[in-house]
Amino acid sequence: MNLRHSAHRKTPPKGGSSISDAEAPFCAVIGAGPAGLFAADALARAGARVVIYEHKASPARKFLMAGRGGLNITHSEGLERFISRYGAAAARIAPYIRAWPPQALRDFCAELGETTFVGSSGRVFPASFKASPLLRAKRLGEYLAQKNRCELRSDARLMEKHFGAWEGRAWDDITRSEIDAWAADVSGYAPPGGESAQQLMQRVQIFLRDVAQLPQQNIALVAHGGSIRALLAQIGNVPLAETLSWEMGYGAVIGVRNLSAQK
Ligand SMILES: Cc1cc2nc3c(=O)[nH]c(=O)nc-3n(C[C@H](O)[C@H](O)[C@H](O)COP(=O)(O)OP(=O)(O)OC[C@H]3O[C@@H](n4cnc5c(N)ncnc54)[C@H](O)[C@@H]3O)c2cc1C
Repeated sequence: MNLRHSAHRKTPPKGGSSISDAEAPFCAVIGAGPAGLFAADALARAGARVVIYEHKASPARKFLMAGRGGLNITHSEGLERFISRYGAAAARIAPYIRAWPPQALRDFCAELGETTFVGSSGRVFPASFKASPLLRAKRLGEYLAQKNRCELRSDARLMEKHFGAWEGRAWDDITRSEIDAWAADVSGYAPPGGESAQQLMQRVQIFLRDVAQLPQQNIALVAHGGSIRALLAQIGNVPLAETLSWEMGYGAVIGVRNLSAQK
């Protein structure tokens, strides 16, 4: 491939010049699955103009499906053992894995605003445990920003509450003692490897404090149910538990007006 910019460039060219630069090489990527999306991202970062062709109605369908049961993205075991898992294909695959080892994938997820954690089996999962929030909030944010010609920022402090080992499990699978401990301290209890409601409230509070410093008058926040309730609890100065009874439809748009500021 004859890319004008180095393919190893880590950051996108400044000012999106790759898109408008008619001299940049044009690349077509067929298929908007994880492989195609990642290839498109790498090509765009390297300065190419990229168009992704997908024949289904929306991108990354299988990936979103994979997230339903808890997405295992890589493994924390030593690199040599990890490579040996590829069996007969190990020798062929090894150079690619060495060039982009499991930690690079975890760093990439962090760059997207999705931290990862090592489960008890050594497998690595996104902190929110499901693939769908990773893409859904990002895609909606991108769509809104493009439609309204406004700046898009992602902020990990608005991630959904991290339920740790409870993620993706049915209530019946969680031990009685853990549920009792949670019931005894709903705001302070953190499921194993996860966070408490208090911790969620704290990060949302710091986020809101920073947002209040911004010069922009109108700000749209795209977030998940738990984070939205935490935002509303902070803004309305009510306990988080009180917001649990508030009706909030799937895909709801919630407007917040600061009446005291208008007086
Ligand atoms: C239930 C389930 C659970 C899973 N769990 C995990 C997991 O925990 N961890 C994990 O790593 N993996 C998991 N996987 C596997 C993972 O989803 C796949 O490995 C991954 O999606 C493969 O990505 P891909 O880009 O190679 O292919 P795909 O995801 O199949 O994407 C290919 C894309 O190309 C499009 N396409 C094909 N032909 C054309 C064409 N001619 N023109 C235009 N578009 C075309 C397709 O519509 C599709 O969107 C799971 C999969 C399933 C189904």
